[in-house]
Amino acid sequence: MKDIFKEIFNSVHMSIVVVNDKFIIREWNKDTELMYGISSDLVLGKNLIDSFPDLKRIHLDTFIAKCFKTGDKFEIKEKFRKTLMKGRLYIDYFISPIEIDGEIKYVSIASKDVTERVLLRHNLQEQNQRLNVLYDIAKTLLSTLNLEEVLFLILTGITNPQMEGFGRAVLFIKEENEQGRFFAGAIGIGSESGKEAHNLWKKFLKNPNKFDDFISVFNKFNESTNLTFHNYIQGLGFFEKEIRKQWKIRNITHFTKKPGRNCIPEIITNFFNQDEFVLIPIWVDKDLFGIVYVDNYKGKKHGFSKPDLEFLDLSTNLAGLAIRLSMQYEETYESTIRDALTRLFNHRRFYSLLKENIKISLENKSKLSLIMMDIDYFKKYNDTFGHVEGDQVLREIASIILSNIRNIDYAARYGGEEFAVLLPNVGIKEAFEIANRIRIAVSKHEFKKSKEITWGGITISGGVATYPDVTKNAIELVKKADSALYKAKRAGRNNIKKAK
Ligand code: GH3
Ligand code: MG
Ligand code: MG
Repeated sequence: MKDIFKEIFNSVHMSIVVVNDKFIIREWNKDTELMYGISSDLVLGKNLIDSFPDLKRIHLDTFIAKCFKTGDKFEIKEKFRKTLMKGRLYIDYFISPIEIDGEIKYVSIASKDVTERVLLRHNLQEQNQRLNVLYDIAKTLLSTLNLEEVLFLILTGITNPQMEGFGRAVLFIKEENEQGRFFAGAIGIGSESGKEAHNLWKKFLKNPNKFDDFISVFNKFNESTNLTFHNYIQGLGFFEKEIRKQWKIRNITHFTKKPGRNCIPEIITNFFNQDEFVLIPIWVDKDLFGIVYVDNYKGKKHGFSKPDLEFLDLSTNLAGLAIRLSMQYEETYESTIRDALTRLFNHRRFYSLLKENIKISLENKSKLSLIMMDIDYFKKYNDTFGHVEGDQVLREIASIILSNIRNIDYAARYGGEEFAVLLPNVGIKEAFEIANRIRIAVSKHEFKKSKEITWGGITISGGVATYPDVTKNAIELVKKADSALYKAKRAGRNNIKKAK
């Protein structure tokens, strides 16, 4: 090669290799020496593919052979390659024929390090993906107002593999008890529970209308008994004062065991035995609602990066907003189904529960009993002591009822001083006993004005009717229980009658 060309050949910032049709290396410029870490005198005269077998992986040999055959140029872009000198690179290859006297004598392989461009794009893509996930979390959060669903969404969202996955996430919810503020494990997304949820996230992100699917997984998650991690965290918790020793609970904090880093709260390491994790407080207005723990259980190489932390911070802030909305919603919802004075279900809710439960009993061929109760001579009580005292009696009777029924039963304030209790899977005999138990508890209860009552005291009368024994119709069941109640009144009050 002429000196001037040799000069140019060596000064371009691009690796250029020239081979003949046997792949024998004829030229190897300075930039190639830098990229491959091998000087030209070691490779000139050697077979390119034999010397660098990994070039076969990107089919460089095939392209060179094609170029010799057809004279076509080829571009092979952004191929990953490990090099001795520069480490991991992304390289663009340009393959072109070199004609001499109308014959293709050589092929040049020019390659350019485009690592910077590729990484920049990856970063942008990653950032974009983060934004997308955030956007999806936000959208999804606003599509449900159920607090538990919101919480589940947040945790599965931040452990979402779209974000490479942070491993595990645990939500600790604040509870006030006598000894102070306590944070109790509420939801734990580990690998077992995460997997299914994450698959759903993937599907869900593709088709956001499938929110119901998501909820079905949430329900399954709730019912599942073999979620080891979720079960494990149920028993965990810590007092605010314990964690405050090492963490101020103000902002998202990244803990690692590296020197000069935040001192790791021992209580957390005791639970999860991790050297690196993030704690994020969830603020709802100015109240601390809970703390989210996220770890690097799967061992992401770079651990938590700055953008990771920003993402976690943003999504939990968003969570705070969604939690507030759902709490407000639940309050409003509660007020539409519950009676404000006694907190029992109201008349309207009673009827929807009655209908639902009759349907269930019909399907399961099971019994459903209804007790209707009415306070005896309550008008007299009000007239004597006033409505405020009367209201207090209503509240106390409501709590007597609640403490005499199971969790799965429903107690409602049917009307002014009338109560209804629905007992799923309970036959007439047992329902009668339960009604009597309530009646006796009321008659024995000491109300504020009990001693001043000039008549028999505060008592209740009740009527009991059972589906499907006396009727299969919801309204009819109420009527039957009501007429049994009327019979009890006529029989002298403070007693219970069965419907016929
Ligand atoms: P009995 O049922 O034994 O036949 O006599 P009663 O005096 O309880 O019957 P009645 O149905 O005539 O009166 C019901 C009374 O309940 C009327 C009202 O003073 C009282 N009452 C109804 N709703 C409320 C309420 O929300 N608060 C208070 N304090 N009293 C109520
Ligand atoms: Mg009445
Ligand atoms: Mg009454």
